[in-house]
Amino acid sequence: MRRRILAGNWKMNKSLQEVEAFVLELEKEISGFKSESSSPEIFIAPPFPYLHYLQTNVSKFGINIGAQNCANTENGAFTGEVSASILKSVGCNFVILGHSERRKYFSESDMEIGQKVKLALLNGMVPILCIGETLEERENADFFSILKKQLFVALNDCSDSSSLIIAYEPVWAIGTGKTATPSQAQEVHLFIRQILAEKFGKIGKEVPILYGGSCNPSNAKELFSCPDIDGGLIGGASLKINDFLSLFRCF
Ligand code: PEP
Repeated sequence: MRRRILAGNWKMNKSLQEVEAFVLELEKEISGFKSESSSPEIFIAPPFPYLHYLQTNVSKFGINIGAQNCANTENGAFTGEVSASILKSVGCNFVILGHSERRKYFSESDMEIGQKVKLALLNGMVPILCIGETLEERENADFFSILKKQLFVALNDCSDSSSLIIAYEPVWAIGTGKTATPSQAQEVHLFIRQILAEKFGKIGKEVPILYGGSCNPSNAKELFSCPDIDGGLIGGASLKINDFLSLFRCF
């Protein structure tokens, strides 16, 4: 059976005081995250400064703590950057890479994302590789070939898919309140699974593929019940413990 995953991307949100309050609430609610066979693994990606605090206070509940990005180089004179090995040293076991906001606001290319994927894997972290098409690409282009290119270039140096998670995040759905329909999402997830099988063989079919884009407690159940959707990468709805808990119950 493939892994089921609920991942929260906090983006650039929360003060330290709000993070502490979230942890207090989480401690109260943690029994609600009781595992059943269908329950997902939980991943949380806070801003960098809170990684160590959450690693210390939250990973004991079996929650994975990881980063939202890493540098595309090893340690060195790169002011303001954070390397994969630094992330690993504070206990991160995953890192989100290629998020559309990184591609849009920081001009990250597929090649640069591929360098990050390679460094994450070398340092023993799971990359959550995000791919997705813009609205213009969906309407005017062969967006399946765009998704295929994003995958192939970013995974160029990756020969083993066993430590990989993919997130399909249509750019037009992120933070817009406009969710892909279950059939739109399922169609793309199946396509991604076929590409992964093409590249990695049979084992490629086991890679968890998450959906992201305005996923919330009212639309998640239908999405998560699609055969090729293994969970969600959640932005806005991961910030409040009660929404996150409701999403956990959608599996
Ligand atoms: C995201 O940023 O990965 C995301 C899916 O955001 P939202 O859930 O807010 O659309």
